[in-house]
Amino acid sequence: MHSKTYERLCQHAQETALLSATQSLLFWDERTMLPSAGAEYRAKQTAHLAGLIHNRQTAPEVGQWLAELIDSPLAADRHSDQGATIRQLKRLYDKQTRLPQTLVEQLAAMEVTGQRAWAEARRNNDFAAFATHLERIVDLSRQKANAYGCDECCYDALLDDYEPGATTAQVAEVLDGLRAELVPLVAEIAASGRKPNTSILRRHFPMETQEAFCREAAAAIGFDFAAGRLDVTDHPFCCDITPGDCRITTRYDEEFFPGAFFGVLHEAGHGMYEQGLREEFFGLPPGQSVSLGIHESQSRMWENLVARSQAFWRWLFPSARNAFPAALGNVASDEFYFAINDVEPSLIRVEADEATYNLHIIIRFELEQSLLEGDLSVADLPAAWNDKYEQYLGVRPETDADGVLQDIHWSAGLIGYFPTYTLGNLYAAQLFEKADSDIGPLAEHFSRGEFAGLLKWLRQHIHRRGMCCAPAELAEQVTGQTLSHQPLMRYLRTKLGPLYQLV
Ligand code: ZN
Repeated sequence: MHSKTYERLCQHAQETALLSATQSLLFWDERTMLPSAGAEYRAKQTAHLAGLIHNRQTAPEVGQWLAELIDSPLAADRHSDQGATIRQLKRLYDKQTRLPQTLVEQLAAMEVTGQRAWAEARRNNDFAAFATHLERIVDLSRQKANAYGCDECCYDALLDDYEPGATTAQVAEVLDGLRAELVPLVAEIAASGRKPNTSILRRHFPMETQEAFCREAAAAIGFDFAAGRLDVTDHPFCCDITPGDCRITTRYDEEFFPGAFFGVLHEAGHGMYEQGLREEFFGLPPGQSVSLGIHESQSRMWENLVARSQAFWRWLFPSARNAFPAALGNVASDEFYFAINDVEPSLIRVEADEATYNLHIIIRFELEQSLLEGDLSVADLPAAWNDKYEQYLGVRPETDADGVLQDIHWSAGLIGYFPTYTLGNLYAAQLFEKADSDIGPLAEHFSRGEFAGLLKWLRQHIHRRGMCCAPAELAEQVTGQTLSHQPLMRYLRTKLGPLYQLV
């Protein structure tokens, strides 16, 4: 009798997932193909579909099925496919039904008005015009956290949406450790007097050649183009639709090589995670990615630990030189390798290198906690932002457009999201270290253009596990270590030490 209920629950969830897949396809279309005159009806279409999905997810019968199953023998083994399905669907159901309908509607409306106000404020470099919206966003986020239930810390409740089971205290401890070692490393690099010639990356790289080159590299590392696509957009993303249909996007700049290339390998890393999920669990937790942090660990690993390594370019640089003879004909492989690993404190997060990037995230993580807990007022935010940039990165924004107004996240109500970017870098380094000791030296694989070993390892240890454990638990099971800043710092020091001749 439990198994009948379980079947009904799964069928209901998988049918809902078909609707969600339709929503994903509409999102992809909106960002790549949609003519501007279609935007108004597309907004109506997606809002209606979102309502249908929400109603199905919060339907009372789902609550009844889950109540029956949660203490049944089917849920007894929490790491089994059945146990994880019941537990995760219950978690989602409880979260969604805890939010009052009025708050859901206020949050949805605020997302639209917030983003519009932010875009205009950024264009005019006018933080004051955005401040009242941000106050409202912080207030609604606090209400959301309270509705979810926050025992000690409101930020915990928001973080849990993106990184299930992570707590603010744990994340803060790891990020504090990272900051304490990263700030001096970045200062040491700045003081080294060494500087790569990055102008070689700003020569002319024809768009069609870039596209073909990116496509070949993505296929070489293991992105399956029979089950995916690569298209052009303004703000690149990876969109999983159904098994067999995962779409990545990029944008090309003919005068700057790294943008599209590393962007494509990043999105391909996300895509390969989706392509490695178990198809038979489509729409169910064992067939879904476990968290944003682990998702980002996959993209960062392929983008940085693989594609920014010396071994990778030992393999690919001769092809790059053939593809772009005018730009790279007189460039040496090591000169190119140094240039793509330039570390330079800057104001803009999305343009940051792999070392300083984490300091941009730590700043946002610290500030959004203070806002939420009421220790910092919105009015004081720009000054607090600029002070932290000066303190951690040694640079100070001259305008709010280059400072506190640069990211879309807060305007879209995404508070608690930023730390997942750095969690991704931390998990990437930790998983890579373990993979290297299990099946490496991986550098030897990469210098021969072989990536199947690493992908197979990730499939087995991460992709095929779906949501069968919490993300931190999964990483600990795989590596035998709890989350720490040390693998990432070891990786950065090993790589950057020789480039910058650090002692
Ligand atoms: Zn990403």
